[in-house]
Amino acid sequence: MIRSLATPLRAGLRSSAAATAAAAAAPRRSAVAAMAGASRQMSFYNHDVAGLTDDQLELKEAVSNFVAAELSPERAAQIDRDNKSPEGIWQKLGDMGLLGITVPEEDGGLGKGYLDHTIVMEELSRASGSVGLSYGAHSNLCVNQLRRHGTKAQKEKYLPDLIAGRKVGSLAMSEPGAGSDVVSMTTKAVKKGDHYVLNGGKMWITNAPIASTFIVYAKTGEGSKGITAFILEKGMKGFSQLPKLDKVGMRGSDTCEIHFDNVEVPEENILGKLNKGAAVLMSGLDLERLVLSGGPLGLMQAAFDYATEYAHDRKQFGQRIGEFQLMQGKIADMYTRLGASRAYVYAVGRACDAGKVSRRDCAGAILYSSDACVSVTSEAMQTCGGNGYTNDYPVARFWRDSRLYMVGAGTQEIRRMLIGRMFNEELA
Ligand SMILES: Cc1cc2nc3c(=O)[nH]c(=O)nc-3n(C[C@H](O)[C@H](O)[C@H](O)COP(=O)(O)OP(=O)(O)OC[C@H]3O[C@@H](n4cnc5c(N)ncnc54)[C@H](O)[C@@H]3O)c2cc1C
Repeated sequence: MIRSLATPLRAGLRSSAAATAAAAAAPRRSAVAAMAGASRQMSFYNHDVAGLTDDQLELKEAVSNFVAAELSPERAAQIDRDNKSPEGIWQKLGDMGLLGITVPEEDGGLGKGYLDHTIVMEELSRASGSVGLSYGAHSNLCVNQLRRHGTKAQKEKYLPDLIAGRKVGSLAMSEPGAGSDVVSMTTKAVKKGDHYVLNGGKMWITNAPIASTFIVYAKTGEGSKGITAFILEKGMKGFSQLPKLDKVGMRGSDTCEIHFDNVEVPEENILGKLNKGAAVLMSGLDLERLVLSGGPLGLMQAAFDYATEYAHDRKQFGQRIGEFQLMQGKIADMYTRLGASRAYVYAVGRACDAGKVSRRDCAGAILYSSDACVSVTSEAMQTCGGNGYTNDYPVARFWRDSRLYMVGAGTQEIRRMLIGRMFNEELA
């Protein structure tokens, strides 16, 4: 079934105009109202500088309307408190067509590009960092890898359910003993007749507690030339999902360890080619780094919007705190860090869409935006004073969520190492 965003987009734009008019007419909230968890009303996203096309603006607006309806600030806070992926969200994301955003229309997707994907990631993360992260793992790490490397039969078998949100996807490469040095993984796949027998385990796998379709990397030979990607399904004999991890942030994005005890995987479930998994993995990581950069952008926007409004509601010394020069400096620094991050991420997204995928710039986009995100969310907490240090306000959650991007999808140190190494190779 080929779905189009056109109808929900048009409907979405209408309701967005109405919401803007209502917001303009509404009185400004006080800090007390904010304390009670009332919805934020302003976003300082700078459309003039972002430079999106009309289509991209329409997409952003549609997702913005979706999150206004489905992921209100109150719901996002509840998701965090529940420490659980919200039920029903997958089907709704599927109905919007967002789960197969980069899949061609003939395969049931929206046929859009990587910058579009990043914009959706950003907009979802602005509402809920957790939902954004889980969405990224499903739509990029799993679905986009199937789109890029799957056979016709694999795409026909797995994509419809994943795109519709009937099933959730994961990608499993990290292991308890193989994180940054992922090539040292010890999960083994041994050929036996027309199938492979997998033994081992994977750690920190996003969506694993709720997923049904897993892309799993395993050793089929020696070193980096002996890695193969497989498609596994929940329910295969010997496959188990361990209890959910208790994380500091991203608490609505379920994560767990998975184990393989003589799991028999048919040969036709090899994704890509035998012993070519490292290429599947590394090229996928470049695009993952770009698309996941939307996460820090969304979290920064949420933190900046909240803190800036707060600074213009809250009074001390008979004055709005946003009018103190030190606080103006804070707002200016947050604003420019966000703007610089977005400019870089969008530029890398446009390059990827033009077929110029640069490993060093995909790493750079997430490196820069993640550092900026931790700084901006921390300054947003500071702007909210004592309130910012409580869980009654969302800024502490933005900060907790932001910390994931320093480690997930490869650490900041490894991103720096990659960029430096590429210059070393170029100038050798
Ligand atoms: C919430 C969450 C979700 C995740 N989701 C997934 C997922 O869906 N799928 C998946 O496969 N993985 C996932 N991961 C795993 C993630 O990719 C790894 O945690 C990450 O690659 C780091 O590995 P590690 O935790 O083993 O840290 P380590 O590799 O042990 O690193 C520890 C520290 O040492 C530093 N370090 C290591 N090597 C070097 C070096 N050569 N030079 C300088 N510093 C170095 C690191 O930068 C880090 O600061 C997730 C992790 C988290 C926390």
